[in-house]
Amino acid sequence: MQDLLSRELVLERFFNYVSYDTQAKPGAKISPSSAGQLALAKLLQQELVALGLQEIELNKHAVLTAFLPSNIDPHAPTIGLIAHLDTSPDCSGKHVQPEVIDNYRGGDIALGIGEEFISPVYYPFLHQLVGKTLIVTDGKTLLGADNKAGIAEIMTALYRLKTENLPHCNIRVAFTPDEEIGLGMQFFPFDRFSCDWAYTIDGGAVGELEYENFNAASAKITFHGCNIHPGYAKHKMINALALACEFQNAFPATEVPEQTEQREGFFHLHHFDGTIEKVELQYLIRDFDSANFEKRKQFIRDLVEKFNRQKRLLKPIELVLTENYKNMYEVVKQVPQAIELADLAMKQCNITPNHKLIRGGTDGAWLAEKGLACPNIFTGGYNFHSKHELITLEGMKDAVNVIVKLLELATQK
Ligand SMILES: [Zn+2]
Repeated sequence: MQDLLSRELVLERFFNYVSYDTQAKPGAKISPSSAGQLALAKLLQQELVALGLQEIELNKHAVLTAFLPSNIDPHAPTIGLIAHLDTSPDCSGKHVQPEVIDNYRGGDIALGIGEEFISPVYYPFLHQLVGKTLIVTDGKTLLGADNKAGIAEIMTALYRLKTENLPHCNIRVAFTPDEEIGLGMQFFPFDRFSCDWAYTIDGGAVGELEYENFNAASAKITFHGCNIHPGYAKHKMINALALACEFQNAFPATEVPEQTEQREGFFHLHHFDGTIEKVELQYLIRDFDSANFEKRKQFIRDLVEKFNRQKRLLKPIELVLTENYKNMYEVVKQVPQAIELADLAMKQCNITPNHKLIRGGTDGAWLAEKGLACPNIFTGGYNFHSKHELITLEGMKDAVNVIVKLLELATQK
């Protein structure tokens, strides 16, 4: 193990970062939502100082930013590199004990004492990882590759630029808290983080490049009923539960998460709670296409309006529609260099780019709202938010190489 550590800087950094418990806490009244995130940010701040970065700023909300001027041309583009400090609330990130499997032979992998295992039967991608060095969990926690692998890869790339004296463009770095609970950009210094474009290093398998995400909104619908003894209820009772069921049944049955993929959008009923007196439904509305996204929202408005018109109600159905985030592609397509450069850097590192859709949102979507194009590049990890999370050492080194290469290629733009 010691030999491996001294051999592989990216892994050494990664193991250090995952030793910090930075699990995001939904509903926390403070930002960052957990103290470990600020502790990790302070460590990274020291490391950025040691690497000679400038304009290093860490605010009390654990947003850490820094700048490294180009070593060959002050007029070179400025590229942002972003990763998040927190880990998913879905799985513990405390006392992470990574295990290294050298030269994976294929087949099942027992985690820790063997109560948990990962198998190529459930995860066919494992077949492609035969011969690689895998980093897995002990089956008790997540690994934290999402997104500490991204942090380790960015830091290792900066280290290599410095120690190997490699040519590079202007670079801004940002490490942000609470991405997993959608609050990462709350206290982000957008005005000072001026870049031509940026990348989050927060994707999965080697080669992944993502720059299209859902347009996202949510709907909360409240039905008001009127309860009365069921034996004497004729023409008197208004059953909010029955109304809500009828309402839900009016939605297109196949446009749901469990029946859609790729570019298909959906309505997702994720909360149904109530009594005869009152029911609350909550939906997520998702679509890549902005015109279809508007149609989906209008569908819900129209349905509420129709029920209010046609049903016998004492009090109208209430609808609260909330916009969440937009498809970043609207902004990215205006900066095609962001995609071209990532593609070129990957090809020069012998990696085939794999353009994928994000069926969710990222911090990049929030940055796009502020006009900053921010595609997402792979980290080399799999099975995020789970005890079955893993990453390959080779994938991490590929990510470092791609980052170094694109920062060099940007000087030629
Ligand atoms: Zn992530």
